[in-house]
Amino acid sequence: MEKSQERKRKFREALRDKKRIVVKIGSSSLQHPETGDLDYTKLDVLVRELCDMRNRGKDVALVTSGAIAVGKKAVHMADMEHPGGSPIALKQACAAIGQARLMMTYQKIFAEYNQVAAQILMTKNTIVDNLNRYNAHNTFSELFRLGVIPVVNENDTVATYEIEFGDNDSLSAIVAALVGADLLILLSDIDGLYTDDPRKNKDAEFIDVVEELSDELMEMGKSSTGSGVGTGGMNTKLVAAKIAASSNIDMVIANSRDIKVLHRILDGQDIGTLFVGKREVYFDLPEFVENMHK
Ligand code: GLU
Repeated sequence: MEKSQERKRKFREALRDKKRIVVKIGSSSLQHPETGDLDYTKLDVLVRELCDMRNRGKDVALVTSGAIAVGKKAVHMADMEHPGGSPIALKQACAAIGQARLMMTYQKIFAEYNQVAAQILMTKNTIVDNLNRYNAHNTFSELFRLGVIPVVNENDTVATYEIEFGDNDSLSAIVAALVGADLLILLSDIDGLYTDDPRKNKDAEFIDVVEELSDELMEMGKSSTGSGVGTGGMNTKLVAAKIAASSNIDMVIANSRDIKVLHRILDGQDIGTLFVGKREVYFDLPEFVENMHK
């Protein structure tokens, strides 16, 4: 085997031994594109895969979007008027409706697999404020100790611009750093990282392993837009990769078309793009979060 191939194989094999895994799924991966309604088949496979990770003895957390999308659907917001109410308040109201519904659906499916799940909703303050961060960290630790799967989202019902993470790609990496995870998996509507936008450039090449997040690579992501449903394009995924890598966490971006890739990733198979975590990098999580949108 060629040297670089051997090296890549080694990085992939290392995923077999990961102990604490954060999985992120985006809104567009949870909905039927034709109707915007929840795709129960996908949700079921997702939950089954997560429960099976638990059965393998791993600690598992899920970061899930979908609150706003599900809430909008519930009150038919697409064709609803909102006289007097500001769009922000309306969006937050939808998040309040949708988060509860989303969680109800998750709870039902987790229960079918005999698994206990918990809900954690966060804002930037959860990380920036020392006491909040300490408490959140302790809560996660206790949940893992109890064998429970924390289901995390941004607290969209109260988070306005000043205190919002804004996208769940970054949030999932922040959660991974907070809980001391060793693997983050982003399930998305893309296969992973390409040298250019594959929809526009047929010569774009797929990158299977990234060892160094160069400035050039970070720049590449900025021009990407992503889907219309979630808030993350390639840029937010690369920011997540930066947070993860700096916190010594490996990260994989994989396509949510087939959610069963989750156990294959843990088997060390070549799926999606793997960003290799870096040891010995100084990274101040609260400071990073505080300056995120400045
Ligand atoms: N937190 C938002 C929601 O649950 C979505 C954010 C995102 O998709 O990145 O609806």
